[in-house]
Amino acid sequence: MIPAPHASAVETLGLSYSRRIFVNRTIELDDVDAIGFDMDYTLCRYRPELEGLATELAIQHLVKRGYPDALLQIRFDPAWGIRGLVIDTAKGNVVKMDAHRHVTRAWHGLTPIGDGERRAMYASDPPRLSAGRWAMMDTLFSTPESFLYCHIVDLIEGHAGHPMEAAETRRLYADIRYCIDMVHRDDSLKSAVRNDLAKYIDVDPHLAQALHRLRSAGKKLFVLTNSDMSYTEHVMTYLLDGALSGYRTWQDYFDAIWVTACKPRFFEVAQEPFRLGEKSFDQGSREYLERDLGVSGDKILYVGDHIYGDVLKSRSTTGWRTALIMPEVEGELAALESEAEAMSLRSALEEERFDLEGALASAELSLRAARRAERKSLVDDDEGLLDPGYADDGLLAAEVADPSLADASSAELLSERETLRAWVLELRERLKHNTAESVRFTKQIDRHFNPRWGQLLNERHKHSLFGNQMKSYACLYTSRVSNLAAYSPRHKFEPPRDLLPHERMLRFVGQ
Ligand SMILES: [Mg+2]
Repeated sequence: MIPAPHASAVETLGLSYSRRIFVNRTIELDDVDAIGFDMDYTLCRYRPELEGLATELAIQHLVKRGYPDALLQIRFDPAWGIRGLVIDTAKGNVVKMDAHRHVTRAWHGLTPIGDGERRAMYASDPPRLSAGRWAMMDTLFSTPESFLYCHIVDLIEGHAGHPMEAAETRRLYADIRYCIDMVHRDDSLKSAVRNDLAKYIDVDPHLAQALHRLRSAGKKLFVLTNSDMSYTEHVMTYLLDGALSGYRTWQDYFDAIWVTACKPRFFEVAQEPFRLGEKSFDQGSREYLERDLGVSGDKILYVGDHIYGDVLKSRSTTGWRTALIMPEVEGELAALESEAEAMSLRSALEEERFDLEGALASAELSLRAARRAERKSLVDDDEGLLDPGYADDGLLAAEVADPSLADASSAELLSERETLRAWVLELRERLKHNTAESVRFTKQIDRHFNPRWGQLLNERHKHSLFGNQMKSYACLYTSRVSNLAAYSPRHKFEPPRDLLPHERMLRFVGQ
């Protein structure tokens, strides 16, 4: 069906805007021969109860390692943090960074660090995140780590009555990491999930159809997960078995299944896999997977949720195309859509501010010129109005010599000066009002996002560190795997034209 001229591409595809696939780099699905999927948080959408369980189990391990019993009172709050935060293990803080790695928000324990203190603390050059001091919370699996870190710092310092030493805050992060790893390794987390799949897994009813559609178009599909075969079997059976009549079991949707993959090492170190079945493999590496599939490099699209383990490494070391799954996109876009009018009004205010600032600078210069022209006969009562930056410098010599002012009478000069003075005051009032309105709209928009950390992908006027990494490394991003079903298997994904700041202004010229 040819869409009506006014219909957007999104309406044509039958998807709400927040379920769309967004594009950083061009991909033609026609050129993609194989599509691989991570399982945890990609094919399988976990509920926040999973992070709650991981937190609870990690606390039990921490208490066994000597941390106070009071930790057992801590209850996980999924709304506390967001993905993409960074733990400063040297100072005991959890921070958010912008695209240039400037720390823009910081909490110590359960207390926000004020702007002045934060700037003083992080005024030096942007940190090297590869250094051991910083720990990035890349995945939804890691959100319990930043939550626990803040809560335990608060609890320990509250009991001790003094700040923790750097060695203690470093040790605390290492212990939390160890205990979170432990609940993944000792099977306590996964056995709880296996025993109550409905509690921890949010089944996407459109997943089977999406996979079927891609298979029908001749794409080879594979699973590539760090989970072991037993757990993968449980989860995938729950997600797919019985969903479509043409598929006997979940394995029928895939050409190959690679488990216990040890990503990101899977992409870096050649290792022969153990064969588990006709098309299932344990461990191994990218070379063996490509050989088994008969597809390699940019003919493979890999879909995962981990910016480092799935997306950055697969793209940089193998040339695979990548898609990042971010469930958060749906909530954030819904929030932005609900405040579309406020965002539009704020943009208009920003444009008005540019004009007001220009007009004010010009009016202040004219006022100074007028004052100088009449300074021999009039009392100078405007000094307080003038920007100190303009005071008595050589720059103003030309204005003093303005012939139109030099020929005017004292009364005319006084009138001119009063008119300019009133105009400067009015412009300043309008700028003040403009700023207040802009702040009001920003607060109105921000209340839809995390009250401590704001948006996932943006930080004030810039991308967040996480948003910047996503833009740099993921070819595509979307909220869930099943969104693929709305696109033709031959669809060409093309990014929007990337305008530089000076080009963005062009749309206002001539209006
Ligand atoms: Mg995953």
